[in-house]
Amino acid sequence: MNRAVKKIMRGYVNIPSSIYCKLCKECGSRPVIALVDDIGYIVKCSKDDRHYQTMPGLIDIEDWNRHNTIQAASVDYNLNPVMAW
Ligand SMILES: [Zn+2]
Repeated sequence: MNRAVKKIMRGYVNIPSSIYCKLCKECGSRPVIALVDDIGYIVKCSKDDRHYQTMPGLIDIEDWNRHNTIQAASVDYNLNPVMAW
C-alpha cells in the first residue's frame, strides 16, 4: 500500500478525462501532471520533456492550455473569401 503511494508521488499522474485540457501542440500527446520534489506540480507533455511544461507550483492546466493552443489564424484568413471582398 505504502509503496504504491510512493510510486504515484514520484511518477506522473494522468489528468482525469473529465478535466478539459489541450493536447501537446508539438506531438498531440495528452499532458500529465508530474510532482517536482519539494517545489510543486508541473503539467507537461507525456512524451517529451522538451515540449512545453508549466512552471512548478500549483497544477496549472489553464497555463498549459494557453501555450498549446494552435493558432487558427490561417484558417480564419481563408474563411469566407467572398465576404472579405
Ligand atoms: Zn509533446
